Amino acid sequence: MILLKRANALREYLSGKQANGNTIGFVPTMGALHQGHISLIQAARKGNSITVCSIFVNPTQFNDPSDFQRYPVTLEKDIQLLEKEGVDILFLPYVDEIYPDGLKNLPSYDLGYLETILEGKYRPGHFQGVCQVMHRLLTLVTCDDLYMGQKDYQQCMVVSKLLQLTGIKTRLHTCPTLREPDGLAMSSRNMRLSPETRHQAVCISTALQTIKNHIKPGDTAHHCREAEQFLQENGFKVDYVAIADAAELRLISQWDGNLPLVALAAAYLNDVRLIDNMLIPTVQ
Ligand code: AMP
Repeated sequence: MILLKRANALREYLSGKQANGNTIGFVPTMGALHQGHISLIQAARKGNSITVCSIFVNPTQFNDPSDFQRYPVTLEKDIQLLEKEGVDILFLPYVDEIYPDGLKNLPSYDLGYLETILEGKYRPGHFQGVCQVMHRLLTLVTCDDLYMGQKDYQQCMVVSKLLQLTGIKTRLHTCPTLREPDGLAMSSRNMRLSPETRHQAVCISTALQTIKNHIKPGDTAHHCREAEQFLQENGFKVDYVAIADAAELRLISQWDGNLPLVALAAAYLNDVRLIDNMLIPTVQ
């Protein structure tokens, strides 16, 4: 694996490879890697001749500065994992390689209603930061295929919108969420849970699974209220539990049984914010 820190070096290396007919699969991450990230690497390796992974804890997507300060960093372990998985290039940029003109006056993106609901509503500015870093990374990596996790469902929709807005031709692959044996979605933030809160954390996937198991055509709002109550009873401070149509992420409160849905939740255990979602198939 080649480790590159400079944008110019990355461009030079990849343009040579692309000129020789190689295809590039790209997995952007913020490090503190787990099996969920590795599943994206494996998908990229399967679909492309060159696999690029980036580790960059992007300051512009943290609406809460203390969340940024506390974000876990496990670089040595990450490098070993990526090497073992056969990643070709690890891009590990400094902040000024991603934002050469500084962090002020960065571009803004018209994300429409996607920015006003769910994560957009509870983390103001977060998706602008995601677009700023992804636009720059995609310009540098010029990948054929981009691999991201369904775990961050709304983020995948935002990146799909970014591709549309910028005309960047990469294909976005949304890969399934990997879970711990008890059902908790894998996340770098899980490292920050105490043994006690780790035990409680599973309730977030239990709540979504309950919605998935019990939802019927008709009113859906009561499922969200019940899930919210269940989470509160188990020590969570809830940002939202919501049900939306899976294709457009429009929030719904009535269901015809035919529209494919997604149930989504975000909630805090102490100062650790967890998110998760589950797709709900249509009634057969
Ligand atoms: P992050 O390092 O949290 O920014 O995540 C990097 C990529 O890994 C994003 O596309 C995430 O959606 C994806 N990811 C995070 N957790 C999981 C998971 N449990 N399963 C699959 N992909 C994941």
